[in-house]
Amino acid sequence: MAKKTEERKHALLSASSAKKWLNCTPSARLEDAIPEEQSPYAAEGTLAHGICELKLAKRFTDKNMTDKAYRSRMGKLAKDPLYAKEMDGFTDAYVDYVTGIAYGFPSAPYVAVERRVDYSPWAPEGFGTCDCILIHGDTMHVCDFKYGKGKAVSSAGNPQLMLYALGAWNAFRMIYPIRKVSLHIIQPRIDNTSSWETSVEELLRWGEETVKPQAEKAFRGEGECVQGAWCDGCFCRLSATCRARAEANMSLMAEAENLPGTGLPMMKLPPQLSNGEVGTLLKEAQFLKSWVNKLEAYAQGEILAGRAVPGWKLVEGRSVRTIQDVDAAYEALHEAGYPEAALYRMQPLPLGELEKLLEKEHKKILEKFIVKPPGKPTLVPDDDKRPAVSPASIAEGAFGGENAYKEGK
Ligand code: SF4
Repeated sequence: MAKKTEERKHALLSASSAKKWLNCTPSARLEDAIPEEQSPYAAEGTLAHGICELKLAKRFTDKNMTDKAYRSRMGKLAKDPLYAKEMDGFTDAYVDYVTGIAYGFPSAPYVAVERRVDYSPWAPEGFGTCDCILIHGDTMHVCDFKYGKGKAVSSAGNPQLMLYALGAWNAFRMIYPIRKVSLHIIQPRIDNTSSWETSVEELLRWGEETVKPQAEKAFRGEGECVQGAWCDGCFCRLSATCRARAEANMSLMAEAENLPGTGLPMMKLPPQLSNGEVGTLLKEAQFLKSWVNKLEAYAQGEILAGRAVPGWKLVEGRSVRTIQDVDAAYEALHEAGYPEAALYRMQPLPLGELEKLLEKEHKKILEKFIVKPPGKPTLVPDDDKRPAVSPASIAEGAFGGENAYKEGK
Protein backbone atom coordinates (compact mmCIF):
# COMPACT_ATOMS: atom_id res chain seq x y z
CA MET A 1 0.00 0.00 0.00
CA ALA A 2 2.93 2.33 0.39
CA LYS A 3 3.00 1.86 -3.38
CA LYS A 4 -0.51 3.26 -3.71
CA THR A 5 0.35 6.37 -1.71
CA GLU A 6 3.42 6.94 -3.84
CA GLU A 7 1.39 6.70 -7.03
CA ARG A 8 -1.17 9.13 -5.72
CA LYS A 9 1.63 11.55 -5.02
CA HIS A 10 2.91 11.41 -8.54
CA ALA A 11 -0.22 11.38 -10.71
CA LEU A 12 -1.03 15.04 -11.31
CA LEU A 13 -4.55 14.17 -12.40
CA SER A 14 -5.14 11.58 -9.72
CA ALA A 15 -8.41 9.69 -9.57
CA SER A 16 -8.95 10.52 -5.90
CA SER A 17 -8.89 14.25 -6.69
CA ALA A 18 -10.88 13.96 -9.93
CA LYS A 19 -13.92 15.73 -8.55
CA LYS A 20 -11.66 18.70 -7.87
CA TRP A 21 -9.84 18.99 -11.18
CA LEU A 22 -12.95 18.16 -13.22
CA ASN A 23 -14.76 21.11 -11.61
CA CYS A 24 -11.84 23.46 -10.92
CA THR A 25 -9.38 22.79 -13.71
CA PRO A 26 -6.45 24.98 -12.50
CA SER A 27 -6.43 23.28 -9.07
CA ALA A 28 -4.13 20.38 -10.00
CA ARG A 29 -1.24 22.62 -11.15
CA LEU A 30 -1.81 25.12 -8.35
CA GLU A 31 -1.69 22.36 -5.73
CA ASP A 32 1.39 20.83 -7.31
CA ALA A 33 3.41 23.81 -6.10
CA ILE A 34 2.42 23.21 -2.46
CA PRO A 35 3.93 20.32 -0.47
CA GLU A 36 1.45 17.69 0.68
CA GLU A 37 1.06 16.96 4.37
CA GLN A 38 0.00 13.42 5.22
CA SER A 39 -2.69 13.31 7.90
CA PRO A 40 -2.75 10.56 10.56
CA TYR A 41 -6.09 9.48 9.06
CA ALA A 42 -4.43 8.89 5.69
CA ALA A 43 -1.70 6.83 7.35
CA GLU A 44 -4.33 4.79 9.19
CA GLY A 45 -6.18 4.24 5.90
CA THR A 46 -2.97 3.11 4.23
CA LEU A 47 -2.43 0.51 6.95
CA ALA A 48 -6.02 -0.75 6.71
CA HIS A 49 -5.65 -1.01 2.90
CA GLY A 50 -2.48 -3.07 3.45
CA ILE A 51 -4.44 -5.51 5.61
CA CYS A 52 -7.20 -5.74 2.96
CA GLU A 53 -4.62 -6.40 0.29
CA LEU A 54 -3.07 -9.22 2.28
CA LYS A 55 -6.43 -10.84 3.09
CA LEU A 56 -7.63 -10.67 -0.53
CA ALA A 57 -4.32 -12.00 -1.79
CA LYS A 58 -4.59 -14.99 0.56
CA ARG A 59 -8.17 -15.66 -0.52
CA PHE A 60 -7.96 -15.06 -4.27
CA THR A 61 -4.67 -14.27 -5.90
CA ASP A 62 -1.84 -15.91 -3.98
CA LYS A 63 -2.91 -19.49 -3.53
CA ASN A 64 0.67 -20.44 -2.64
CA MET A 65 0.73 -18.21 0.41
CA THR A 66 1.13 -20.51 3.40
CA ASP A 67 -0.68 -19.87 6.67
CA LYS A 68 2.71 -19.22 8.25
CA ALA A 69 3.61 -16.61 5.64
CA TYR A 70 0.19 -15.00 6.04
CA ARG A 71 0.51 -14.82 9.82
CA SER A 72 4.00 -13.42 9.56
CA ARG A 73 2.90 -10.67 7.15
CA MET A 74 -0.16 -9.90 9.27
CA GLY A 75 2.02 -9.79 12.37
CA LYS A 76 4.22 -7.17 10.75
CA LEU A 77 1.19 -5.03 9.88
CA ALA A 78 -0.18 -5.43 13.42
CA LYS A 79 3.05 -4.01 14.83
CA ASP A 80 2.30 -0.66 13.24
CA PRO A 81 1.56 1.85 16.00
CA LEU A 82 -1.65 2.83 14.18
CA TYR A 83 -2.97 -0.75 14.27
CA ALA A 84 -6.14 -1.36 16.31
CA LYS A 85 -7.90 -4.71 16.78
CA GLU A 86 -11.08 -3.31 15.22
CA MET A 87 -9.23 -3.05 11.89
CA ASP A 88 -9.46 -6.80 11.63
CA GLY A 89 -13.27 -6.73 11.68
CA PHE A 90 -13.56 -3.79 9.28
CA THR A 91 -11.16 -5.30 6.78
CA ASP A 92 -12.99 -8.62 7.07
CA ALA A 93 -16.25 -6.83 6.21
CA TYR A 94 -14.62 -5.55 3.00
CA VAL A 95 -13.15 -8.95 2.13
CA ASP A 96 -16.56 -10.58 2.76
CA TYR A 97 -18.21 -8.05 0.43
CA VAL A 98 -15.71 -8.77 -2.34
CA THR A 99 -16.10 -12.50 -1.72
CA GLY A 100 -19.87 -12.10 -2.04
CA ILE A 101 -19.40 -10.61 -5.52
CA ALA A 102 -16.97 -13.39 -6.50
CA TYR A 103 -19.33 -16.13 -5.30
CA GLY A 104 -22.23 -14.54 -7.18
CA PHE A 105 -20.74 -15.66 -10.51
CA PRO A 106 -21.44 -19.15 -11.88
CA SER A 107 -17.69 -19.86 -11.95
CA ALA A 108 -14.55 -18.30 -10.51
CA PRO A 109 -13.97 -14.75 -11.81
CA TYR A 110 -10.65 -13.16 -12.63
CA VAL A 111 -9.57 -11.18 -9.56
CA ALA A 112 -6.89 -8.49 -9.42
CA VAL A 113 -5.87 -6.88 -6.13
CA GLU A 114 -4.09 -3.53 -5.90
CA ARG A 115 -3.92 -3.35 -9.66
CA ARG A 116 -2.34 -0.29 -11.22
CA VAL A 117 -4.50 1.03 -14.06
CA ASP A 118 -3.73 3.59 -16.72
CA TYR A 119 -6.46 6.05 -17.73
CA SER A 120 -4.09 8.32 -19.64
CA PRO A 121 -6.09 7.97 -22.90
CA TRP A 122 -8.63 10.27 -21.18
CA ALA A 123 -6.52 12.25 -18.68
CA PRO A 124 -2.86 13.03 -19.49
CA GLU A 125 -0.46 10.87 -17.48
CA GLY A 126 -3.41 9.58 -15.45
CA PHE A 127 -3.00 6.38 -13.52
CA GLY A 128 -4.11 4.97 -10.21
CA THR A 129 -4.45 1.78 -8.21
CA CYS A 130 -7.72 -0.15 -7.94
CA ASP A 131 -8.25 -1.89 -4.63
CA CYS A 132 -9.91 -4.84 -6.33
CA ILE A 133 -11.17 -5.72 -9.83
CA LEU A 134 -13.32 -8.76 -10.57
CA ILE A 135 -14.20 -9.79 -14.12
CA HIS A 136 -16.46 -12.55 -15.32
CA GLY A 137 -17.87 -12.76 -18.83
CA ASP A 138 -19.08 -9.34 -19.87
CA THR A 139 -19.19 -7.88 -16.34
CA MET A 140 -16.47 -6.03 -14.48
CA HIS A 141 -16.66 -4.98 -10.82
CA VAL A 142 -14.40 -2.28 -9.39
CA CYS A 143 -14.24 -2.17 -5.58
CA ASP A 144 -12.91 0.66 -3.49
CA PHE A 145 -12.32 0.30 0.26
CA LYS A 146 -12.61 3.49 2.26
CA TYR A 147 -11.46 3.53 5.86
CA GLY A 148 -12.77 7.04 6.55
CA LYS A 149 -15.70 7.45 8.87
CA GLY A 150 -16.74 10.95 7.92
CA LYS A 151 -19.29 11.32 5.16
CA ALA A 152 -20.80 8.29 3.46
CA VAL A 153 -19.44 8.24 -0.10
CA SER A 154 -21.72 7.21 -2.96
CA SER A 155 -20.51 5.19 -5.93
CA ALA A 156 -23.19 6.62 -8.26
CA GLY A 157 -21.39 8.68 -10.90
CA ASN A 158 -18.31 8.76 -8.64
CA PRO A 159 -15.47 10.14 -10.84
CA GLN A 160 -12.72 8.40 -8.85
CA LEU A 161 -14.21 4.97 -9.45
CA MET A 162 -15.21 5.81 -13.01
CA LEU A 163 -11.61 6.72 -13.82
CA TYR A 164 -10.44 3.44 -12.26
CA ALA A 165 -13.06 1.66 -14.36
CA LEU A 166 -11.85 3.38 -17.55
CA GLY A 167 -8.29 2.28 -16.73
CA ALA A 168 -9.39 -1.26 -15.85
CA TRP A 169 -11.47 -1.56 -19.02
CA ASN A 170 -8.49 -0.29 -20.98
CA ALA A 171 -6.26 -2.96 -19.42
CA PHE A 172 -8.62 -5.92 -19.89
CA ARG A 173 -10.73 -5.10 -22.95
CA MET A 174 -8.61 -7.30 -25.24
CA ILE A 175 -9.07 -10.30 -22.96
CA TYR A 176 -12.66 -9.93 -21.71
CA PRO A 177 -15.73 -8.74 -23.66
CA ILE A 178 -16.67 -6.26 -20.90
CA ARG A 179 -20.00 -4.50 -21.44
CA LYS A 180 -21.27 -3.87 -17.91
CA VAL A 181 -19.40 -2.15 -15.12
CA SER A 182 -20.34 -2.17 -11.43
CA LEU A 183 -18.69 0.26 -9.07
CA HIS A 184 -18.62 -0.43 -5.34
CA ILE A 185 -17.62 1.62 -2.34
CA ILE A 186 -17.22 -0.24 0.93
CA GLN A 187 -16.89 2.02 3.96
CA PRO A 188 -17.28 -0.42 6.87
CA ARG A 189 -16.60 1.98 9.72
CA ILE A 190 -19.87 3.75 9.05
CA ASP A 191 -21.61 0.70 7.64
CA ASN A 192 -21.86 2.25 4.19
CA THR A 193 -21.80 0.16 1.04
CA SER A 194 -22.78 1.72 -2.24
CA SER A 195 -22.91 0.07 -5.63
CA TRP A 196 -23.79 1.48 -9.01
CA GLU A 197 -23.94 -0.10 -12.42
CA THR A 198 -23.31 1.49 -15.78
CA SER A 199 -22.49 0.32 -19.28
CA VAL A 200 -19.10 0.52 -20.94
CA GLU A 201 -20.78 2.66 -23.59
CA GLU A 202 -21.85 5.23 -20.97
CA LEU A 203 -18.47 5.08 -19.27
CA LEU A 204 -16.64 5.76 -22.51
CA ARG A 205 -19.01 8.61 -23.36
CA TRP A 206 -18.25 10.20 -19.99
CA GLY A 207 -14.54 9.68 -20.62
CA GLU A 208 -14.68 11.36 -24.03
CA GLU A 209 -17.17 14.13 -23.36
CA THR A 210 -16.53 15.08 -19.74
CA VAL A 211 -13.09 13.88 -18.71
CA LYS A 212 -11.02 14.55 -21.84
CA PRO A 213 -11.74 18.27 -22.31
CA GLN A 214 -11.50 19.07 -18.59
CA ALA A 215 -8.41 16.90 -18.07
CA GLU A 216 -6.57 18.61 -20.93
CA LYS A 217 -7.30 22.00 -19.41
CA ALA A 218 -6.37 20.75 -15.95
CA PHE A 219 -3.09 19.31 -17.20
CA ARG A 220 -2.20 22.65 -18.75
CA GLY A 221 -3.40 24.50 -15.63
CA GLU A 222 -5.99 26.43 -17.63
CA GLY A 223 -9.54 27.50 -16.87
CA GLU A 224 -11.19 29.32 -14.00
CA CYS A 225 -11.00 28.36 -10.34
CA VAL A 226 -14.47 27.29 -9.29
CA GLN A 227 -15.42 26.97 -5.64
CA GLY A 228 -17.54 24.02 -4.59
CA ALA A 229 -17.87 21.11 -2.20
CA TRP A 230 -14.65 19.70 -3.71
CA CYS A 231 -12.50 22.50 -2.15
CA ASP A 232 -12.76 20.94 1.31
CA GLY A 233 -14.20 17.54 0.34
CA CYS A 234 -11.11 16.78 -1.78
CA PHE A 235 -8.73 18.54 0.65
CA CYS A 236 -7.48 21.17 -1.80
CA ARG A 237 -4.12 22.45 -0.57
CA LEU A 238 -5.28 25.98 -1.40
CA SER A 239 -8.51 25.67 0.52
CA ALA A 240 -7.52 28.46 2.93
CA THR A 241 -5.46 30.69 0.66
CA CYS A 242 -7.27 30.38 -2.67
CA ARG A 243 -7.92 33.87 -4.03
CA ALA A 244 -10.79 32.78 -6.25
CA ARG A 245 -12.51 31.25 -3.27
CA ALA A 246 -11.99 34.38 -1.19
CA GLU A 247 -13.35 36.57 -3.99
CA ALA A 248 -16.37 34.33 -4.50
CA ASN A 249 -17.17 34.37 -0.78
CA MET A 250 -16.60 38.10 -0.37
CA SER A 251 -18.81 38.89 -3.35
CA LEU A 252 -21.44 36.63 -1.83
CA MET A 253 -21.38 38.75 1.30
CA ALA A 254 -21.68 41.90 -0.82
CA GLU A 255 -24.63 40.36 -2.63
CA ALA A 256 -26.39 39.82 0.68
CA GLU A 257 -27.12 43.55 0.61
CA ASN A 258 -29.47 42.72 -2.23
CA LEU A 259 -31.46 39.60 -1.59
CA PRO A 260 -30.67 36.79 -4.00
CA GLY A 261 -32.90 36.69 -7.00
CA THR A 262 -34.72 39.91 -6.23
CA GLY A 263 -32.20 42.51 -7.42
CA LEU A 264 -33.84 44.84 -4.93
CA PRO A 265 -32.10 46.52 -2.03
CA MET A 266 -33.07 45.00 1.33
CA MET A 267 -34.38 48.36 2.59
CA LYS A 268 -37.33 48.19 0.20
CA LEU A 269 -38.31 44.72 1.37
CA PRO A 270 -40.03 43.57 4.57
CA PRO A 271 -37.74 43.68 7.63
CA GLN A 272 -37.89 39.91 8.10
CA LEU A 273 -36.60 37.33 5.63
CA SER A 274 -39.13 34.90 4.26
CA ASN A 275 -38.41 31.15 4.56
CA GLY A 276 -37.80 31.10 0.81
CA GLU A 277 -35.11 33.76 1.21
CA VAL A 278 -33.57 31.96 4.21
CA GLY A 279 -33.38 28.77 2.11
CA THR A 280 -31.72 30.57 -0.80
CA LEU A 281 -29.24 32.42 1.41
CA LEU A 282 -28.27 29.24 3.29
CA LYS A 283 -27.61 27.39 0.03
CA GLU A 284 -25.46 30.21 -1.31
CA ALA A 285 -23.59 30.63 1.97
CA GLN A 286 -22.91 26.93 2.58
CA PHE A 287 -19.21 27.32 1.82
CA LEU A 288 -18.68 30.38 3.98
CA LYS A 289 -18.55 28.50 7.27
CA SER A 290 -15.98 25.92 6.20
CA TRP A 291 -13.96 28.59 4.38
CA VAL A 292 -13.75 30.78 7.51
CA ASN A 293 -12.68 27.72 9.55
CA LYS A 294 -9.94 27.03 7.00
CA LEU A 295 -8.79 30.65 7.11
CA GLU A 296 -8.61 30.57 10.92
CA ALA A 297 -6.64 27.31 10.98
CA TYR A 298 -4.25 28.62 8.32
CA ALA A 299 -3.68 31.94 10.14
CA GLN A 300 -3.04 30.12 13.42
CA GLY A 301 -0.53 27.82 11.73
CA GLU A 302 1.26 30.79 10.17
CA ILE A 303 1.56 32.68 13.48
CA LEU A 304 2.72 29.52 15.27
CA ALA A 305 5.38 29.14 12.57
CA GLY A 306 6.58 32.69 13.33
CA ARG A 307 4.99 34.41 10.33
CA ALA A 308 2.83 37.42 11.11
CA VAL A 309 -0.75 37.66 9.93
CA PRO A 310 -1.52 41.40 10.21
CA GLY A 311 -4.46 42.15 12.47
CA TRP A 312 -4.29 38.82 14.33
CA LYS A 313 -2.39 37.33 17.26
CA LEU A 314 -2.50 34.20 19.40
CA VAL A 315 -3.56 34.43 23.02
CA GLU A 316 -3.76 31.86 25.75
CA GLY A 317 -7.05 30.03 25.49
CA ARG A 318 -9.31 28.91 28.31
CA SER A 319 -7.48 26.40 30.47
CA VAL A 320 -8.72 23.74 32.85
CA ARG A 321 -7.22 23.14 36.30
CA THR A 322 -5.35 19.87 36.58
CA ILE A 323 -3.39 17.88 39.18
CA GLN A 324 0.27 17.89 38.20
CA ASP A 325 1.30 14.66 39.98
CA VAL A 326 -1.81 12.53 40.42
CA ASP A 327 0.00 9.64 42.19
CA ALA A 328 1.60 11.91 44.81
CA ALA A 329 -1.61 13.86 45.41
CA TYR A 330 -3.69 10.69 45.85
CA GLU A 331 -1.11 9.15 48.15
CA ALA A 332 -1.23 12.28 50.32
CA LEU A 333 -5.04 12.20 50.41
CA HIS A 334 -5.00 8.49 51.24
CA GLU A 335 -2.58 9.11 54.08
CA ALA A 336 -4.90 11.85 55.33
CA GLY A 337 -7.56 9.17 55.80
CA TYR A 338 -9.56 9.20 52.56
CA PRO A 339 -10.32 5.61 51.44
CA GLU A 340 -9.49 4.63 47.85
CA ALA A 341 -13.17 3.98 47.12
CA ALA A 342 -13.88 7.64 47.76
CA LEU A 343 -11.07 8.82 45.49
CA TYR A 344 -11.64 6.64 42.41
CA ARG A 345 -14.66 6.11 40.17
CA MET A 346 -14.90 2.99 38.00
CA GLN A 347 -16.46 3.95 34.65
CA PRO A 348 -17.28 1.99 31.50
CA LEU A 349 -15.07 2.83 28.53
CA PRO A 350 -16.68 4.84 25.70
CA LEU A 351 -18.09 2.43 23.07
CA GLY A 352 -15.51 3.29 20.40
CA GLU A 353 -12.60 2.62 22.77
CA LEU A 354 -14.20 -0.61 23.98
CA GLU A 355 -14.63 -1.86 20.40
CA LYS A 356 -11.01 -1.11 19.59
CA LEU A 357 -10.03 -3.34 22.48
CA LEU A 358 -12.05 -6.40 21.52
CA GLU A 359 -10.91 -9.40 19.54
CA LYS A 360 -13.03 -10.01 16.45
CA GLU A 361 -14.67 -13.12 17.92
CA HIS A 362 -15.66 -11.19 21.05
CA LYS A 363 -17.41 -8.38 19.19
CA LYS A 364 -20.56 -10.46 19.00
CA ILE A 365 -20.82 -10.50 22.82
CA LEU A 366 -21.13 -6.74 22.80
CA GLU A 367 -23.16 -6.36 19.61
CA LYS A 368 -26.44 -7.57 21.08
CA PHE A 369 -26.29 -4.85 23.74
CA ILE A 370 -25.71 -1.99 21.33
CA VAL A 371 -28.62 0.24 20.32
CA LYS A 372 -28.53 3.20 18.00
CA PRO A 373 -31.06 5.85 18.97
CA PRO A 374 -32.17 8.24 16.22
CA GLY A 375 -29.77 11.14 15.76
CA LYS A 376 -30.69 14.70 16.64
CA PRO A 377 -32.45 16.45 13.71
CA THR A 378 -29.83 18.04 11.46
CA LEU A 379 -30.39 20.63 8.77
CA VAL A 380 -29.03 19.61 5.35
CA PRO A 381 -29.68 20.73 1.74
CA ASP A 382 -32.63 18.93 0.11
CA ASP A 383 -30.36 16.99 -2.28
CA ASP A 384 -28.89 15.06 0.69
CA LYS A 385 -29.72 11.37 0.15
CA ARG A 386 -30.95 10.74 3.70
CA PRO A 387 -34.76 10.71 4.05
CA ALA A 388 -36.35 13.76 5.69
CA VAL A 389 -37.70 13.38 9.23
CA SER A 390 -41.16 14.72 9.89
CA PRO A 391 -41.87 17.36 12.54
CA ALA A 392 -44.55 14.95 13.86
CA SER A 393 -41.98 12.24 14.66
CA ILE A 394 -39.87 14.83 16.49
CA ALA A 395 -42.88 15.92 18.53
CA GLU A 396 -43.66 12.26 19.34
CA GLY A 397 -40.26 11.96 20.98
CA ALA A 398 -38.64 9.70 18.37
CA PHE A 399 -35.51 11.83 18.77
CA GLY A 400 -35.30 11.71 22.53
CA GLY A 401 -38.35 13.92 23.13
CA GLU A 402 -38.81 17.62 22.86
CA ASN A 403 -36.88 18.31 26.03
CA ALA A 404 -33.96 16.11 25.05
CA TYR A 405 -33.73 17.96 21.76
CA LYS A 406 -33.72 21.33 23.46
CA GLU A 407 -31.14 20.20 26.02
CA GLY A 408 -28.83 18.93 23.34
CA LYS A 409 -28.98 22.14 21.35
S1 SF4 B 1 -9.73 26.00 -3.17
FE1 SF4 B 1 -11.38 25.35 -4.51
S2 SF4 B 1 -11.54 26.98 -6.04
FE2 SF4 B 1 -9.53 27.21 -5.07
S3 SF4 B 1 -8.12 26.00 -6.33
FE3 SF4 B 1 -8.83 24.64 -4.71
S4 SF4 B 1 -10.57 23.56 -5.62
FE4 SF4 B 1 -10.21 25.38 -6.88
